[in-house]
Amino acid sequence: MITRTPTALQSGNATHGEDASEGVTLTLRQGTQDWQAQLRDAVRDPRALCRHLGLDPAWLPGAEEGHTLFPVRVPHAYLSRIHHGDADDPLLRQVLPLERESDSVAGFVGDPLEEAEHRPRPGLIHKYRNRVLLIASPACAINCRYCFRRHFPYAENSPSRAQWESTLDYLRQDTSINEAIFSGGDPLASPDRRLAWLAERLADIPHLKRLRLHTRLPVVIPDRVDGALLDWLTATRLQTVMVVHINHPNEIDTHVADAMARLRGAGVTLLNQSVLLRGVNDDVETLARLSERLFDVGILPYYLHVLDPVEGAAHFDVSDAEAVSLVETLRAHLAGFLMPRLVREIPGEASKTPLA
Ligand code: SF4
Repeated sequence: MITRTPTALQSGNATHGEDASEGVTLTLRQGTQDWQAQLRDAVRDPRALCRHLGLDPAWLPGAEEGHTLFPVRVPHAYLSRIHHGDADDPLLRQVLPLERESDSVAGFVGDPLEEAEHRPRPGLIHKYRNRVLLIASPACAINCRYCFRRHFPYAENSPSRAQWESTLDYLRQDTSINEAIFSGGDPLASPDRRLAWLAERLADIPHLKRLRLHTRLPVVIPDRVDGALLDWLTATRLQTVMVVHINHPNEIDTHVADAMARLRGAGVTLLNQSVLLRGVNDDVETLARLSERLFDVGILPYYLHVLDPVEGAAHFDVSDAEAVSLVETLRAHLAGFLMPRLVREIPGEASKTPLA
């Protein structure tokens, strides 16, 4: 587990009354603001994050330092699931910047998957046969501290409509491609009119069969799954698959469950990928609960990734040997269809590499 020095304030401390009312405010924001307002209203300041959650002020200098490397961004709908005053909360650990993010650790680099080698057109990453990634949005609703794209040059990969046409031409010409994947950033941070436009252009390419979306937005702002999104998802002729990103069972509250029900109602196949993170989900009990909870809300566990060695995230690392041992033990706790595949992404390989 991550060793952390400052201790969280306990219930009954000087800020507890203020925090209780904050909890009410957080609950009210969800459901009364549309998703775009919730996106704009996300906490983007380390001081506000620590204050909202009643953390010991000793966390603040480290949070401010980490914030200069990769800015804080946490929507209130996600904050409301973090236990107040608990610096060890597994959801908080995913979003709280730390001083150690500035440590230089051998093997941890800016572009761990060497994606710069595979960008033939603006906004396009073509690493694997048959499928391509489209950077449909340069932004995320939440900034996850372990993200392998925390240093990605989004400014160079935010195509205009004309550039998208060039990217679409690339897809039209390569008839081996049968699947397009909306990625990012978080693709669902883009407005629906832009996504619907792109989905329509893709549906016009005869050899494309599937549209996959890799997104965390329905998890961190469940109100993102609204009528406008469901409209274009149901209108496309392409089969739709959504790979959400959930690392801990506490991320799934009733709002997330309802959002997943709406997606399933629209005929979207739901899969989950997690990252194995030190101090967040690196134990069998949590991983077993995660798989059970995912299936409860209609999501199939798909991948459990070991951490990509990105600069700033070394403190989340779990060794491959430990990961394999965890997963071998997990097998005894879960039905086979609830077992995620433990994988590592190795630059240059034709697919993800199974570790167990
Ligand atoms: S791309 Fe995904 S993992 Fe990375 S910060 Fe955005 S939501 Fe988090």
